[in-house]
Amino acid sequence: MNIILLGPPGAGKGTQAQKLVDERNMIQLSTGDMLRAARTSGTEMGNKVAAIMDAGELVTDEIVIGLIEEQLEAHPDGSFIFDGFPRTLPQADALGKLLEAHGMSLDAVIEMQVNDDVLVGRIVGRAEEARKAGQPVRADDNEESLRVRLMEYYKKTSPLIGYYYAKGDLKPVNGLGTIDEVAAEIAALLD
Ligand code: AMP
Repeated sequence: MNIILLGPPGAGKGTQAQKLVDERNMIQLSTGDMLRAARTSGTEMGNKVAAIMDAGELVTDEIVIGLIEEQLEAHPDGSFIFDGFPRTLPQADALGKLLEAHGMSLDAVIEMQVNDDVLVGRIVGRAEEARKAGQPVRADDNEESLRVRLMEYYKKTSPLIGYYYAKGDLKPVNGLGTIDEVAAEIAALLD
């Protein structure tokens, strides 16, 4: 089974992806995590994306599509959760083609619905928690980057809701519940 978790920053995509990894033996493909790993590796690509990420903007389609392609090739029999990818219509088209080329298909696009006030609170809370626990705070978890990230989401990513609706793949869930409530809603859709 292959699914996309779609939703704005702070919707809980990473949290729910982790639960699916633990409970269903799926592989989480988070382009955000891959890019954060790349930027600490000192590679040319890593240096190129660091400033873009910190500002809250999207990196180029070419870079993230390349990262996803590598992972699909590395796990030919994998069952994937796409977390934070695709984020643009060209990425969505590219994913469709990549899956087809690897003899895979998409089973569902889980749209995590939340309202904007909640998002800001969650992200500010995530930064505070990390700070308290002595863990590194994401450079883009500040109010200014968040504003850009939300705008990028509405301009470039939210059109994917209509795109996947038209394909018959869209499954909305209420992302405002507790972690376990949202997980149960997702599980009911997948079973
Ligand atoms: P995330 O961890 O998903 O919130 O992603 C953090 C940052 O990585 C985003 O704000 C973008 O700068 C970049 N990023 C992650 N995934 C993508 C993607 N699919 N397309 C473009 N940029 C991305």
